[in-house]
Amino acid sequence: MKVEINGNTLELTVADITKQNTDAIVNAANGTLMGGGGVDGAIHQAAGSKLVQACKTIREQKLHGERLSTGEAVITNGFQLPAAYVIHTVGPVWNESNASTLDQRLMNCYINSLQLASNYDLSSISFPSISTGIYRYPLDRAAQIAIRSIGQYLQSHRFGEATMTLSSKDDYYVYKTELDKIINPT
Ligand code: ADP
Repeated sequence: MKVEINGNTLELTVADITKQNTDAIVNAANGTLMGGGGVDGAIHQAAGSKLVQACKTIREQKLHGERLSTGEAVITNGFQLPAAYVIHTVGPVWNESNASTLDQRLMNCYINSLQLASNYDLSSISFPSISTGIYRYPLDRAAQIAIRSIGQYLQSHRFGEATMTLSSKDDYYVYKTELDKIINPT
């Protein structure tokens, strides 16, 4: 499914994000930037070991040894990936008692990634479903935030193509429901 928003496009697809040849793919990283499970592990494996070296340099030089904060984003080369760049962002770990703060941080993941891509003059980006795996965010809630955040950004910027690259048909339909809501608000 692909929709036009203010001259940009927002697409939903079921695919392996490590195979996407957009200018950038987004990694649902953890604050250490040293790789991990899920999509993070898959991206590091496909990109090769230069990716972890680039992340180490960012930790040392840009973050002064600190972890990357939840909702923030940094950029590296894509190395062996088809995508030229990887944007690493840290999604929130779901915790019901802190939901509205976490929602804001998840929104920041999408907005800051898009902003960083724009700063690098990139015009296509693929996102995974941030926080809905190991970080246990409720899928419908995360999908609504993702679609609204990307939609809002595209509405107010000339960007290009944003794609949600989902790992299953089930995820796809949850995201599609949220996208249908912003196209045909009732
Ligand atoms: P988080 O820690 O942010 O929850 P995960 O990597 O555990 O991140 O999961 C985020 C989403 O990425 C999940 O829906 C998972 O199924 C999906 N995913 C895992 N591998 C890939 C891949 N290669 N391409 C696209 N999506 C993937």
